[in-house]
Amino acid sequence: MISQHTLRKAVSTRGVGLHGGRRVTLTLRPAPVDTGIVFRRVDLPQAPGFRVDPQCVMDTRMCSALERDGAKVSTVEHLMSALAGLAIDNLYCDLDGPEVPIMDGSAAPFVYLIEGVGLEAQSALRRYVRVLKTVRVEDGDKWAAFYPCDCFRLKFHIDFDHPALQKSGDSVQMDFSRQAFVQDISRARTFGFMRDVEYLRAHGLALGGTLDNAIVMDDFSVLNADGLRYSDEFVKHKVLDAIGDLYLVGHPLLAELDAYKSGHGLNNKLLRALMDDASAWEWASFPHRETAPEAIRLGTPPSD
Ligand SMILES: [Zn+2]
Repeated sequence: MISQHTLRKAVSTRGVGLHGGRRVTLTLRPAPVDTGIVFRRVDLPQAPGFRVDPQCVMDTRMCSALERDGAKVSTVEHLMSALAGLAIDNLYCDLDGPEVPIMDGSAAPFVYLIEGVGLEAQSALRRYVRVLKTVRVEDGDKWAAFYPCDCFRLKFHIDFDHPALQKSGDSVQMDFSRQAFVQDISRARTFGFMRDVEYLRAHGLALGGTLDNAIVMDDFSVLNADGLRYSDEFVKHKVLDAIGDLYLVGHPLLAELDAYKSGHGLNNKLLRALMDDASAWEWASFPHRETAPEAIRLGTPPSD
């Protein structure tokens, strides 16, 4: 069967929060079948926590911030992207601060951390959300849409008026698989502009941001000495963010995402629009690995 997965054992890492600038320890712990992805604030009394779902997204100005029952957790999207990318269904994500560490600004450090301990197949079917009809949301000239699809396909287009971004590829299409995620998407870093840094810092944001955890540009070019990791790293990071934002539905999707200039807010609006329309989706699972579509097999660990 295509089963649910958790981590084989607990693993920790430590790093700085991008916006708050505080050092935080993140511990990932195995969780039972049907737990979902649960964030817990272990620094607060009674360690309040919650299972992710589209309704817990409270702030999308600079990152996807989640809040419920007194527990707030910011900048979850790169970790969520790694969990989606490696097909982890059940996990406790324990934090001793309000923000997931930014690491190098991509999902790759979380991928290494998780692959280092390995996954454990669990004795329950993985549950997919299969999109049945077109769902589309807009915000000004930006839009995002789901279409029915037998796999998880991502089409993403950005449009920035900046020389460094115009030299780089501005659109990506990928059929999701674990390998494609790890190789082609997971290393893409977040990016920002030097001219925004002062404004962000005045608003208490980007306090932990450095050239070690973001691509930073002035008005003309990329300032990082080593340049880009992918020639189209910017749009690939937007895909990385979208994979993480959409995994806040708590399950893998069978859908095609087509997005133009979408970001955390619009990604979340699209998820809510999907879940609000009961005729737009259904549950799907695959009791036999041999007869599951190839895209499903490539999207899950081979050891089932
Ligand atoms: Zn990001």
